[in-house]
Amino acid sequence: MDNYDVIVVGGGPAGYAAAIRAAQLGMRTACIDKSVAKDGTPTLGGTCLNWGCIPSKALLDASHKYVEAREGLGTLGIGTGPLTLDIATMMAHKDGVVGKLTAGIGGLFEGNGVTALAGHGKLLAAQPGNRHVEFVPHDGEPQVLEATHVVLAPGSVPVDIAPAPLTEELIVDSTGALEFDSVPARLGVIGAGVIGLELGSVWGRLGSEVVMLEALPDFLPMADRRIGRDALREFKRQGLDIRLGTRVMSAAVNDGAVEVTYQDGDGDQTLTVDKLIVAVGRRPYTEGLLAADSGVNLDERGFLYVNDLCATDAPNVYAVGDVVRGPMLAHKGMEEGVMVAERIAGHKPLVNYDCVPSVIYTHPEIAWVGRTEDELKAAGDDYRIGTFSFGATGRALAANDATGMVKVVADAETDRILGVHVFGPQASELIAQAVIAMEFDASAEDLGLTMFAHPTLSEAVHEAALGVGGNAIHMLNRQRK
Ligand code: FAD
Ligand code: NAD
Repeated sequence: MDNYDVIVVGGGPAGYAAAIRAAQLGMRTACIDKSVAKDGTPTLGGTCLNWGCIPSKALLDASHKYVEAREGLGTLGIGTGPLTLDIATMMAHKDGVVGKLTAGIGGLFEGNGVTALAGHGKLLAAQPGNRHVEFVPHDGEPQVLEATHVVLAPGSVPVDIAPAPLTEELIVDSTGALEFDSVPARLGVIGAGVIGLELGSVWGRLGSEVVMLEALPDFLPMADRRIGRDALREFKRQGLDIRLGTRVMSAAVNDGAVEVTYQDGDGDQTLTVDKLIVAVGRRPYTEGLLAADSGVNLDERGFLYVNDLCATDAPNVYAVGDVVRGPMLAHKGMEEGVMVAERIAGHKPLVNYDCVPSVIYTHPEIAWVGRTEDELKAAGDDYRIGTFSFGATGRALAANDATGMVKVVADAETDRILGVHVFGPQASELIAQAVIAMEFDASAEDLGLTMFAHPTLSEAVHEAALGVGGNAIHMLNRQRK
């Protein structure tokens, strides 16, 4: 029986980070992953690299450049010839990036000494001593492997809803929506959450008429309330028809189109679209992962139950990434994977769950870390805020990209930064400054006393931090709070 120090089940960001770190720390490590690429060959990187973060960002970047060329360059005095759009080439670019990065994980495994095993992994019964994992290769006989430690990182899959069952081509989830071979003239999206907004933006920019049906009455309730309001206005201006407070009753293919029925405040409605994306959340994926007596427990929502250190209820078995509590984000999973590998090696790292950044890659982007004003109000905590608009920063204006703002929220008494919220160009990059500041327990004054290069978008973060104390420079007296 093959024997390892660590077996990782799942080769997405959480699992591959755990495996690489474990091997770097001198442990004999194997990573079992069952994903196969479109061409039928095994692929590493999980949802993130194959069907998630990376392909969606390739299409978001490409479609943003298309909009820039179509609408953004004239103001700068740049003319283009007639603009053309070749979806096959755009998709080939996306697939090329995916191929490069997934192969890169293979290279990292090889270079760090991780054994990659392509197939299904299942944690077998708890027993004294080492753990056993059944490995069923894509091509070959099942075998039982032995390990001192097992890390479970099987990820998540899209939630489906009974009123809108997926079909081969017309009613699709996020994976299908990354593969359209032409621009649907009319596109419906169920769910105006992160995936709905990102993929709705992609196809809307490329020419689809996009209608989004969102169940909740509020837009992006997890984001800062003002930013949610500003973003909704901006996305509607961009052409996304976002309908809140709707209840989808049915969706069925009729004569090559999709007929959707839903209810809103005005009663029964129908919508006809050429494609429908269902983007109503993701759920932990645990099918076939655990023997009945594995000793690992699930929580009431179907996630693998773990403590703050990602230890399950079974000795020497850990779980990381989307399959455990917390936000379903690649970077959160990677940090958990690294923490677990280092803890197995005897180190004592922690994941700081108060400092997990969230980003929505629309344009402008939305990013935040820490707490919102609404959360602080609900908790009865006193706080102060500073805000700064990108419209008052030279760099954003120079780039003709000045929609949005930064908000810094700090404790009223200690001035410690409790949250930072950004709606604007490159918010995904700017938020890292806030994460670093919060990781080091910085006060708004600390950030205000820090020197930022001029002219940069980051100056909006600086000014918002100064604004907490009423000290922003590029602001009129009457604008201060
Ligand atoms: P996964 O990436 O899902 O990987 C799990 C792997 O385990 C898979 O390869 C699966 O096949 C394999 N597996 C499962 N069970 C078994 C088994 N029993 N045996 C063997 N193998 C198994 N997050 C971000 O942070 N930023 C983004 O921009 C972003 N964009 C996204 C866009 C889209 C369209 C989607 C769908 C998701 C996006 N996410 C994003 C979320 C991100 O993809 C996930 O949070 C991340 O992939 C979770 O990593 P993971 O390792 O836990 O699981
Ligand atoms: P989500 O939770 O972000 O959004 C789902 C939306 O669908 C919610 O607004 C919800 O109210 C709505 N909804 C649920 N049921 C509905 C129904 N029956 N009818 C209409 N609306 C309904 O989930 P998602 O967009 O599917 O994304 C899944 C996960 O993937 C998220 O947790 C996210 O963290 C992750 N993800 C992250 C990124 C990123 O980091 N940029 C990008 C994509 C996905």
